[in-house]
Amino acid sequence: MSPEEFRRHAHNFVDWMADYMESVEQYPVRAQTAPGDIAATIPDAPPEEGEGMERIFADFKSDVIPGITHWQHPRFFAYFPANSSPPSVLAEMLTATLGAQCMLWQTSPAATEMETKVLDWLRQMTGLPEGLTGVIQDSASGAILCALLTAREKATGWQANEKGLGTQPTLTVYTSNQTHSATEKNVKIIGLGRENLRLIDVDENFSMRPDLLEAQIEADIAAGCIPACVVASIGATGVGAVDPLRAIGEICERHKIFLHVDAAWAGTAWLLPEQRWMLDGIEYADSLVFNPHKWMLTNFDCSAHFVKDPDALIRTLSILPEFLKSREQGQIIDYRDWSVPLGRRFRALKLWMVIRSYGADGLRKIVRHHIELAAELEAWIAAEPDFEIVAPRSLALINFRYRPEGMPESEDLDRLNGTLLQRINDDGRIYLTQNKVRGRAAIRFSIGQTNTERRHVAEGWDVVKEIARDLHR
Ligand SMILES: *Cc1c(COP(=O)(O)O)cnc(C)c1O
Repeated sequence: MSPEEFRRHAHNFVDWMADYMESVEQYPVRAQTAPGDIAATIPDAPPEEGEGMERIFADFKSDVIPGITHWQHPRFFAYFPANSSPPSVLAEMLTATLGAQCMLWQTSPAATEMETKVLDWLRQMTGLPEGLTGVIQDSASGAILCALLTAREKATGWQANEKGLGTQPTLTVYTSNQTHSATEKNVKIIGLGRENLRLIDVDENFSMRPDLLEAQIEADIAAGCIPACVVASIGATGVGAVDPLRAIGEICERHKIFLHVDAAWAGTAWLLPEQRWMLDGIEYADSLVFNPHKWMLTNFDCSAHFVKDPDALIRTLSILPEFLKSREQGQIIDYRDWSVPLGRRFRALKLWMVIRSYGADGLRKIVRHHIELAAELEAWIAAEPDFEIVAPRSLALINFRYRPEGMPESEDLDRLNGTLLQRINDDGRIYLTQNKVRGRAAIRFSIGQTNTERRHVAEGWDVVKEIARDLHR
């Protein structure tokens, strides 16, 4: 494809992109295709001859789009948001065009130096303490992996990387039973063994109970284990639970345990000073992650990972073969030593463009608006006698269920809510996610798509009431 042809196609694509942003509401939120529908449109064998871009693009529109779930639909209320925004998309176009691998300072000094600066902007914007140093990871899961590896090395006197785990006492990891599954997955990946992950019970607000945490740590020490890491959650996935950082941090300090804070979704709320109460005790954290690629209008992937002691992370991950040695070592940062993959995209660019384009104040207004909308929805749900809120609202996340008057908590009620959710998502006007709260079926309503307005939430709530009451009459 010549640069001239590229220009023509790209202009065409950009027209489509702007139309999509304008008209995304016309689509069902969740793809309405059946398994195999899209695969059936794709030939079993690859083309031998190159095809024209007009034809490929036409197939994209006719065959691919029906199989897309529209995460940028303002009535997307499922999971957590995975926001995009126009400045972020523009940045991704430039990043893709440059196609730079930014693993070393010298393989693109601008990417390294911008990453350092923009992560410190983020630190300031979210009220995180000085002394935390940021790096962009591919995901919160990747950041938890780095944290657990660092914790493992520190707990074994830097021996696990050298000798393997065979000669080590059992290492234990602690987290609440509300924590995202990424912690369990990483405990398996790094060879600590799922049995050595302790799931600590929570209080009535779904927050980890520090007394139970400390009792478990002491029992493990008495049994000859080495407690290596505590993963605290701020805004856990199910109901958005917030663990008490200060109490947990004091325990970690007493027992010299690495503390990682997983705030993948909720961290963006710290843009708002009134939400920073959950950071009380953050000075105890060795490591923390939140995802601008969730709520902060920045395309996936972009996880902001902050660490107190970068040298410990680098010592854990650094490998230095001859061909990667560089003259500038010591004066510059080589981010390949800060994460698991060697190759890195220029991800700081989209953060730089999003923050400059909206400004900290513009971002605050959007996030604050989402939280206000959720508070309003909470009041609407509470006002209906046949619906109930099943966990305290956390920021812009609500867990509720349909409970027709007189219906006891039962498997029948669970089934009714399961069917309700299925009908809602098959309807296509909104998209919600199922949950279990204290063992009983619940429905999550998560607000936070970049363009969600009051009318979208109101329409969403009308859809829920309409389908529920139609189901049970
Ligand atoms: C989304 C989420 C994760 C996983 O995030 P990835 O970036 O997809 O790995 C981890 N923890 C919490 C609390 C989350 O909400």
